[in-house]
Amino acid sequence: MYASSSTRSTAHRIDLRSDTVTKPCAAMRAVMAAAEVGDDVYGEDPTVRALESRVAEMAGMEAGLFVPSGTQSNLIALMCHCNRGDEVIVGADYHTFVYEAGGVAAVGGIMPNPLPTDSNGGLSVEQVKAAIKPDTTWFAQARLLALENTVSGQIQAPEHIDALCRTAADHGLAVHLDGARIWNAMVALGVPLARLSSSLDSLSVCLSKGLGAPVGSVLCGRRDFIHKAARIRKMLGGGMRQAGVLAACGLFALEHNLARLAQDHANARCLAEGLADIDRLTVHPGDTNMLFLEAEEPDRAPLVAHLAGHGILVGPPAQRIRIVTHLDISEDDIRDTIDVIRQYYE
Ligand SMILES: *Cc1c(COP(=O)(O)O)cnc(C)c1O
Repeated sequence: MYASSSTRSTAHRIDLRSDTVTKPCAAMRAVMAAAEVGDDVYGEDPTVRALESRVAEMAGMEAGLFVPSGTQSNLIALMCHCNRGDEVIVGADYHTFVYEAGGVAAVGGIMPNPLPTDSNGGLSVEQVKAAIKPDTTWFAQARLLALENTVSGQIQAPEHIDALCRTAADHGLAVHLDGARIWNAMVALGVPLARLSSSLDSLSVCLSKGLGAPVGSVLCGRRDFIHKAARIRKMLGGGMRQAGVLAACGLFALEHNLARLAQDHANARCLAEGLADIDRLTVHPGDTNMLFLEAEEPDRAPLVAHLAGHGILVGPPAQRIRIVTHLDISEDDIRDTIDVIRQYYE
């Protein structure tokens, strides 16, 4: 019944660890080769400028800044909004707090105040209000609320983001949103990007996740914010010269790889449905291109090893094993993955 798994070529690797593993296609490499470039530290790279304005326009913000990574983009934003000793209120499982090597504290000198998130990855208005400390000489003062969308593939509702931003504004806090995968939320909700960013002070988006560019993020905000951000980017070593060869990939990705994120979402749904009836496996489907498999012990490590033996890579064995669909994953790959997982449980 599941013959396809044993007959498929294991030379073809199915890499479901992350949507960062995509490789630029021939057409993307061609636009890199043809890109018009200049010295971007002098503000003279026309392709970088085109990308920055394109993303800022989509986000409904005044200006954009092309940066090497999402991590640097978030750090720049936090350092722009906060002085040393200021506090940032953040979800305890958000990327800025957990997965950025502690840069906010080590480099920024900023004090994180991490709050537990709900099952959808969100923070509540009440939580944020309660976390803002009174103005005394002994409390660090919160200057910023740092949000994320999507959170582990879960969409944060635009109305809820708006409500959090109103609360933050009422208390004199700015709001930064880490939108590494906001494109997935945008496509899944069928709304313009600006609908998801209209109440934010700054937004960071990744080009190197679902969009499939090899490198780069864009930080968006008001013109004066972006001017300050460019100085901090330089301080952090992120000022790039003929970066148009990379920005060209971003422009290509926005044109060709944005609407197709719907296919990644459909593939993730199909995978979740194909595994739903396995007794010893609980599937946590997401809203977009991620799902999590909760295997009973002692299945976790052997399941991941069984998949690897068939050339299928997933997240590390843990209580929840992460699976991410992307540009380089086909419907056939999804069918093969279902077959190989089912074979493990037979
Ligand atoms: C990937 C990611 C980033 C930035 O990652 P880089 O690898 O530094 O580009 C930021 N936030 C989230 C939620 C991410 O998934």
